[in-house]
Amino acid sequence: MLELSDLTVGHRGRAVLRSINLRLESGQVAVLLGPNGSGKTTLIRTLLGHLPPLWGQVWLGRQPLREWSRVALARTLAYVPQAHQGLFAFTVEEVVLMGRTAHLGVFALPSQADRRIAQAALEQMGIPHLAEKPYTEVSGGERQLALLARALAQEAQVLVLDEPTSNLDFGNQLRVLAQLEALRDQGKAVFLSTHQPEHARRVADQVLLVGEGSVLGQGSPQTWLTPENLGRLYRVEPQHIEAYLGNFR
Ligand code: ADP
Repeated sequence: MLELSDLTVGHRGRAVLRSINLRLESGQVAVLLGPNGSGKTTLIRTLLGHLPPLWGQVWLGRQPLREWSRVALARTLAYVPQAHQGLFAFTVEEVVLMGRTAHLGVFALPSQADRRIAQAALEQMGIPHLAEKPYTEVSGGERQLALLARALAQEAQVLVLDEPTSNLDFGNQLRVLAQLEALRDQGKAVFLSTHQPEHARRVADQVLLVGEGSVLGQGSPQTWLTPENLGRLYRVEPQHIEAYLGNFR
């Protein structure tokens, strides 16, 4: 579904991350890990088509990303940003209905079918009771679940998520992880960044460890998320990681 081929990403000609290769199929989760400033956001922005690759190619399906029309892209690729405070007091249901925009004609209003899809997405995320509440008045965790429901209502095959569990309490972190697994089981291709290796260990089919301008490791979480590799990635003594992650085995 999503393929990165010899991809170099960066800003205004300055490379941030070089030589990235990745194949993500339907029903798989890839997790991106790396210290602050290692280029995770830059890579995600390139995957979404917001930044042009400096070298190489992003493939979505059988076509390079740059050849996709905006509407076709919005029907195929959903982005779940971090849940910041919303600016306008849309209801949670209206936020989720925005996921239907790519499926509507110009100036068309959401149909009953769109509302049913939004309702089903809210139910899958376990928040149907929040439908009428202003998005600005629900908690950070509930906003993150609402943004996941919006991506679900978009009916896109590929989901890209920027640290979907950051700023969430423990219960909501587990809820979001369970929903990511459910989306994977429904055949979505899921690409996410996280600062939590234990989350990657739980949901990832493959991990991508990035730092110092390149991919430092790539493959199965069992192989790569070891105290030694994480220690090298985050510049921490492996025994500190062992002491922490040991509880998650
Ligand atoms: P991460 O998400 O892993 O914390 P970023 O992708 O945000 O890392 O940043 C990687 C590098 O790119 C940093 O050196 C940062 O200063 C630089 N950078 C980020 N955004 C921009 C921008 N808009 N213009 C120029 N450089 C940027």
